[in-house]
Amino acid sequence: MIRCPIDLDLAFGRQSGYLEIPYSYNLGGWAKLMVPIAIFRNGPGPVVLAMGANHGDEYPGPIALSRLWRELSPEQISGTLILLPWLNPPAAHAATRLSPLDGKNFNRCFPGNPHGSPSEMLAHFLSTELFPRASHVIDLHTGGRSLDFLPCAHMHDVPDPRQNREMRLAAEAFLTPDTFLYADVAGAGLLPSEAERQGKIVITTELGGSESVPAHIHRLCQRGLSNVLRHIGVLSGDPLPRTAPARWLAALDERDYLFAPESGIYENAVSLGEAVIPGQTLGWVHCPEVPDRAPAPVRALTPGVLIGCRAPSRLAQGDCVACVARELN
Ligand code: CA
Repeated sequence: MIRCPIDLDLAFGRQSGYLEIPYSYNLGGWAKLMVPIAIFRNGPGPVVLAMGANHGDEYPGPIALSRLWRELSPEQISGTLILLPWLNPPAAHAATRLSPLDGKNFNRCFPGNPHGSPSEMLAHFLSTELFPRASHVIDLHTGGRSLDFLPCAHMHDVPDPRQNREMRLAAEAFLTPDTFLYADVAGAGLLPSEAERQGKIVITTELGGSESVPAHIHRLCQRGLSNVLRHIGVLSGDPLPRTAPARWLAALDERDYLFAPESGIYENAVSLGEAVIPGQTLGWVHCPEVPDRAPAPVRALTPGVLIGCRAPSRLAQGDCVACVARELN
């Protein structure tokens, strides 16, 4: 049911337009969800799919990808580059993680459903039309409004050794000081998991988070995206060398992810990047309406470095408040 305006098997050149996903709302019986897409092709070579706004409240990726969209010409490409900077327009307009159109977390909709909701239909289009054509899949994230991260490229530890090695080299080419191996602690159906299952070299990021995006995060995102495209060879020019080796951190134990024991107001007690030990208090959940009540501590269960933490102060019982990762040798 999704209409694609561009020729995905274009021989040479640049095309752009909107994927059109049919949906209805009360003031639009025959409405279309419009998702911008561009393709740049110049001969044989890698086929790279680069995406932003998988989650609506994460903007550095869409800004970096839109800049490339405006600036690139096919002569700068070897192979094919497909850009989808604004995957989830309803969520991005609402500054929400979930799509207000269907209540879905797009990053839990894979491999999708051609007869499902708009998010599920788009996930199915990516899984069946775009991923199979791609050699590389780039999905740019931040922690959104709920989490803040040490800015990092990150990945799953995939079982295939060749795929794993290429993914690690590509993550390092994003030029973030830290690179992060993560586990799925919040459900299945992730975009990167489906692309990995199809054997793609998948590059993802957690470039900070919270609602405020400082200039250095935008610079990191734009430099990293261009550099990883040069590393892959789809964008002309030599990739920049790293000025220091990447520090690889891993949070593969479910105890590395800490959750709020009760609802309340959260106080972070440790800053991102600080070393922590088991038993150390990472934060407290306060109940300021009963000032006599002592706050509930959240204590680290594993040693490492605080790589992710709660961004908004208000929280509900069961919200993720911290992620502790250990340096890989
Ligand atoms: Ca995200």
